[in-house]
Amino acid sequence: MSKYDEIVHYQDYDELLKILKNSNNNYDLRKIQKAYNIAEEAHGDQRRVSGIPFILHPTSVACIVAQFGMDSDSIIAALLHDVVEDTEYDLKFVRKEFGKDVANIVDGVTKISKIKLYSREEQQAENIRKMLIAMSNDIRVIIVKLADRLHNMRTIECMKEQKRRDKSRECMEVYAPIAHRLGMKAVKDELEDLSLRYLDPVGYKEIEDALLLKENERDRFIDKKKKEIIKASKMPKDKITVYGRVKSINSIYRKTFLKGKTLDEIYDFFALRIIVDDLKDCYNLLGVIHDLYTPIPRRFKDYISTPKPNMYQSLHTTVIDRDGIPFEVQIRTWEMHQTAENGIAAHWKYKLGFTRIVNNKKAKELDENIKRIKDVLAAQIDTDDSTDIIRNIRNDFDQNEVYVFSPKGDVFNLPIDSTVIDLAYLIHTEVGNHMVGAKVDHRIVPIDYKLNTGEICEILTQKDSHPRRDWLDICKTSSARSKIRQWFKREKRDENIIEGKMMLERELKRSNISLTDEELEELLQFMLKKNKFNTVQDLYASIGYGGIQLWKVLPRIKEEYNTKFKKDDEPAPTIVQTVHKRKHADSGVIVEGMDDCLIKFAQCCNPLPGDEIIGYITRGYGVSVHKRNCTNIPVDLTKVEEPERYVKVSWESNINDSFHSTLEIVCADRTGVLADVTIALSSMRIFINSLNSRSLGSGRAVVTATIDVFSREHLDTVIKRLQSLREVISIKRF
Ligand code: MN
Repeated sequence: MSKYDEIVHYQDYDELLKILKNSNNNYDLRKIQKAYNIAEEAHGDQRRVSGIPFILHPTSVACIVAQFGMDSDSIIAALLHDVVEDTEYDLKFVRKEFGKDVANIVDGVTKISKIKLYSREEQQAENIRKMLIAMSNDIRVIIVKLADRLHNMRTIECMKEQKRRDKSRECMEVYAPIAHRLGMKAVKDELEDLSLRYLDPVGYKEIEDALLLKENERDRFIDKKKKEIIKASKMPKDKITVYGRVKSINSIYRKTFLKGKTLDEIYDFFALRIIVDDLKDCYNLLGVIHDLYTPIPRRFKDYISTPKPNMYQSLHTTVIDRDGIPFEVQIRTWEMHQTAENGIAAHWKYKLGFTRIVNNKKAKELDENIKRIKDVLAAQIDTDDSTDIIRNIRNDFDQNEVYVFSPKGDVFNLPIDSTVIDLAYLIHTEVGNHMVGAKVDHRIVPIDYKLNTGEICEILTQKDSHPRRDWLDICKTSSARSKIRQWFKREKRDENIIEGKMMLERELKRSNISLTDEELEELLQFMLKKNKFNTVQDLYASIGYGGIQLWKVLPRIKEEYNTKFKKDDEPAPTIVQTVHKRKHADSGVIVEGMDDCLIKFAQCCNPLPGDEIIGYITRGYGVSVHKRNCTNIPVDLTKVEEPERYVKVSWESNINDSFHSTLEIVCADRTGVLADVTIALSSMRIFINSLNSRSLGSGRAVVTATIDVFSREHLDTVIKRLQSLREVISIKRF
């Protein structure tokens, strides 16, 4: 007979009430009754696959949650947890009737239930675990979800084989580790044992049978030890509880099947647990045990003075009795026992408010218990298996990471502030190299959109599309950056050579160095060897795609120039450090009467080649270039205060750079308009820097798009093309 066959799988509302009344907590029974009535009515005569009335599932989950010692809101949420998903009642209704906390828990549980959680890779499983915790802005979401899953696992027998295996894997990979992290050992053990039963039925049965065989032997042994210990402790019988502890089947399985030990080799197959009222009795009893039996060196652990990160406290020791049989003893108080079994949930019994662990803007509201976890984490305690747990929990609390889904449900983990470009390159280099845009939660977003945890992000690609140099400034991760550089290195060698040579010459010219091509090549020879380049072309190409950063090597090149090329009567070139900004240095604008001055394009009007322009000499930032008819430029320049600051500027004849331009597109307000605009733009290979839309009411919306174009003419073509779209009403250039 199986260990779990005896468990009463379903508990009804009367049993819930019994649990609530027998606890010392003050529950809001009126509100709980109301929740039950709603759940009962909502589920009506729905049935489980097994034929059992559905309402018995939420009442059973509520019982589990109540046994954890959770608060009224958690119990109400447990009763209602399938209502929003399966019936006509919605979240708004729950919020109105039971407040935002209950609604938030129900919403969280519903969301998590929709995600397919098991995966092929361990790394994915870890991401999923972290993300689940990150998604649950209220830790009670996880606790109710664990109870829901536990009940489903207890009653999974009637499901189809494949479904049982899938759910079991999810439990092993995701839910049991989370329960472990929250210190909920009883839940962890039961979830693992139930899962193992479906994942390896034969192995499970073997251990179960062996345990049954050893049962008599064990009971006799435990009984004897119990008497010896109680007698030696000289404590009154009602002050000390000693019992034999059966290891979970999964933990024995791991030791036998995975570590290749036989059942007889398992060290602490026999284990005792001693529970007392007071902390001081724990240490007294440890002395008694060590007098009575021989302690095995280095098997003693004091988790009372240094608790595990998941708040676990106990004394552990392994001893050998006079017959040479080793066994483990755990000593703890009742309060520690509660924590050991129910972990974080146990603390609801002793607390007043409620807790949000992560995503909490009001960090001050963190409750004492959570502070305790964090203190323990900060203390970097030194126990054998804790470092890993510490690191994992740290990651759970790490606000420097975001977790996003692909439309298929894969989870990706990125540093905070990562953009869709970073995600595209994380998914696959080719996805990044062919990205044209992205959708987040089914809406088109600009290319510099920063991802948030829980968002579903789809990368849009096009076969003949390719990366852009300015992505290097937008993306956040170094891996995306290096992949973009790689692409330019590989695909655009000729361009890179021209670009790199121009960049270098420009910088040298700034320092009054002018050389013929041959001289320049000679000057650069020393750089070739150092960087393992064969030709100067390789060096130019590298500068062009950003593999070598010019500002880093420039001082060294100038030094080389001084020693090898400088004529004696020539003054040493001044080393002018310029921050490399392509657009500014190579602006394509000529300022009358001024060479080599810093050019800035005004953000207010984004002038394009072909526009009539005017320059304004700023204080310290060079010349800012506006459209002549920009609203920030006075119409009559003869009447301004400092007319000398306005200068004539004109466009150079051959400009290869692109320029930002912002369009306001008024169009019909219907879904898909943004997508249409995006598609139209990318079919013209126009790069979109940002794209937003807002409704104007009365069926109209305005789309604001900042795009890159080469000239006024180019922009006019784009506008014409957009105007041909059916939904577009009018287009205005900013
Ligand atoms: Mn459920």
